[in-house]
Amino acid sequence: MIELKGIRKQFGSHIVFDDVDLQLERGEIIVIVGPSGTGKSTLLRCINFLETPDAGQLTVGDLSLDATTATRDQILALRRRTAFVFQNYALFANKTALQNIAEGMIVVDGIAKREAYARAREILGRIGLADKADAYPAALSGGQQQRVGIGRAMAANAEVILFDEPTSSLDPQWVEEVLGLMKQLAAEHQTMIVVTHEMQFAREVADRVVFMDQGGIIEQAPPSELFSHPKDERTQQFLRKIL
Ligand code: ADP
Ligand code: MG
Repeated sequence: MIELKGIRKQFGSHIVFDDVDLQLERGEIIVIVGPSGTGKSTLLRCINFLETPDAGQLTVGDLSLDATTATRDQILALRRRTAFVFQNYALFANKTALQNIAEGMIVVDGIAKREAYARAREILGRIGLADKADAYPAALSGGQQQRVGIGRAMAANAEVILFDEPTSSLDPQWVEEVLGLMKQLAAEHQTMIVVTHEMQFAREVADRVVFMDQGGIIEQAPPSELFSHPKDERTQQFLRKIL
């Protein structure tokens, strides 16, 4: 349902990764782990062309495109099928929680305002913030802001939600409520790719854990297998440090 084939990205002469292959089924939840600076964010960003890959093919649902020949229309279509949750929430500071969630539906999907606000209210309920519809981001805790960030991704009705370290900017007391919301989405079989250092989350929720190091994907396996029997020396070393 989602397939990356031969994805390469370099910045100047620095090749971040080359020839990355990754496949996901609908409803699958993948957690990407690895040392910082190894290209986890860059890979996620390549999946919706926030960064343009230098080579490779991408398939999301019924859309397939080639990195080197992708048209503007294809890229827009790709972005509709992929939603992004950022480490720093990236909410509009001058819009309320409700407006932040409704915005994409109105601007990107062309849904009538009335309908978009009705749907946004429904999502606010699902993310436990029904009483914060009119609050601006500055009046929300970090955990609440990130739940709005996730609500916005839910509103996009995308085939896959890409999470880039969604809890790394949070004060520790807000981490669980954000992970809890992500677990709720997982239980609803939302397809997700999550970059995180939360190994307990990976153990509980991931169908597959992907380990990245310099140059690309080193190995991938279900969490029980990867955490207890990592095959590659680099994976073993990383897990010794983090577990
Ligand atoms: P990670 O998310 O695993 O910490 P990143 O994807 O952020 O790693 O970065 C991978 C590598 O690419 C790093 O060496 C980083 O410095 C480099 N990099 C990331 N974004 C850019 C950019 N826009 N311009 C130049 N180099 C970048
Ligand atoms: Mg990163």
